[in-house]
Amino acid sequence: MPRHAEIAGGGIAGLNAAIVLARLGWSVRVHERAPEIRESGAGIFLRKNSIDVLDFVGAFADLAPKGVKIQKSRIADREGRIRQEFDVTPSRLHCVPRQALVDVLAQVARRAGAEIELSSTAVAAEEEGALVLQDGRRLRADLVIVADGARSPVRNSLVPAARYWELKTAVNRHFVPTRDIAREPFTTQHWSGNRRIGITPTSETHTYVYTVCRDTDTSGRALPLDVDNWNEAFPSLRRELEIISAAPVIQYRYHLVRCPRWHRGRVAIIGDAAHGLPPTLGQGAGLAIMNTYALGQCLDRTAPVEQALDDWERKVRFLSDMTQKWSCRYDWFTREWPERLDFMRPAIFWAFRRLPFLDQRMRLAERGLEAIGFATA
Ligand SMILES: Cc1cc2nc3c(=O)[nH]c(=O)nc-3n(C[C@H](O)[C@H](O)[C@H](O)COP(=O)(O)OP(=O)(O)OC[C@H]3O[C@@H](n4cnc5c(N)ncnc54)[C@H](O)[C@@H]3O)c2cc1C
Repeated sequence: MPRHAEIAGGGIAGLNAAIVLARLGWSVRVHERAPEIRESGAGIFLRKNSIDVLDFVGAFADLAPKGVKIQKSRIADREGRIRQEFDVTPSRLHCVPRQALVDVLAQVARRAGAEIELSSTAVAAEEEGALVLQDGRRLRADLVIVADGARSPVRNSLVPAARYWELKTAVNRHFVPTRDIAREPFTTQHWSGNRRIGITPTSETHTYVYTVCRDTDTSGRALPLDVDNWNEAFPSLRRELEIISAAPVIQYRYHLVRCPRWHRGRVAIIGDAAHGLPPTLGQGAGLAIMNTYALGQCLDRTAPVEQALDDWERKVRFLSDMTQKWSCRYDWFTREWPERLDFMRPAIFWAFRRLPFLDQRMRLAERGLEAIGFATA
């Protein structure tokens, strides 16, 4: 009899866990609260650590043609002058539409034998190995995976000490149906005071744009985008702002999750439910994908599930903790940096990129599974 897993949540983390376990011979069922597998529209950056895993589980070949391989990462000032430019081709950076990512993950999960039950809401997990659903079912399993996102009611049922915070940064994610504002495969972040605009091509037809500001910046947060107001901060981007303001958009607040333990008995907590973090380093999904792969490896090597989960958390957790810490510092740096010291910011960026001591700490997750002692081959 194959071992059986019940998974709460059909987002990036839950679907990737389903693929990893199904490929290891487990029978797997995913419970997704929504009536379809759906991500809110814009793009997402994938870096080496997640791409290596997606390659290994057979999902990246289907996904890569739907996105854009980024060649350069650039930082521009308020006048549009490029202040920093890096070749990112050696480090594998792609931007893909979010919906394409979850569609491919769901397809590959089903192909590997996983079942996905839609409109199925989980309410609690029990450490002896049971997932409780809103419709009253209590499903026994060798392993329960909690992947229901940052607010995670299922995690809270298991680890009441877990905390979710909203940070003081607001972000609007725009999914712009043209490449007219990003013809080249470059990602560009424009900085002006405590506001940022990121512009990146995410498919042949779409550009992913994020506009970020303090949550107290009411004009900056306003939707539809206040073109005149943003244009004052970014005088060179009038045409782009007009195009961006007409595109579909969703607003978020940066958040943070602190979960003192990621497993209890036969239950593992993964993805944003375990380590939700501000997206400043583009690593939330990256960590989720990497950690679920490592989870599969631990379960495959160690027979008792409880022991495998213990081993897994001990090995992988520090990397997510460190990435959370640096993504919060980066968020603070962009949000709270005094405007009168704006001129110093390029020098600080330069220092981070050029001094391996700093850069390697901040971007440790990008090194991928090898940084936590696992191999993808
Ligand atoms: C503005 C922004 C930009 C980002 N950019 C990047 C980036 O470039 N790169 C990157 O790697 N990461 C990025 N992230 C982070 C990334 O989006 C998240 O880390 C990732 O989506 C987390 O996936 P998840 O599956 O853990 O959670 P979620 O995506 O929240 O998925 C949870 C799923 O569980 C379902 N669910 C919820 N409750 C229940 C329940 N009770 N029962 C059953 N199902 C339930 C939900 O419907 C959902 O489908 C960004 C985040 C934000 C906010």
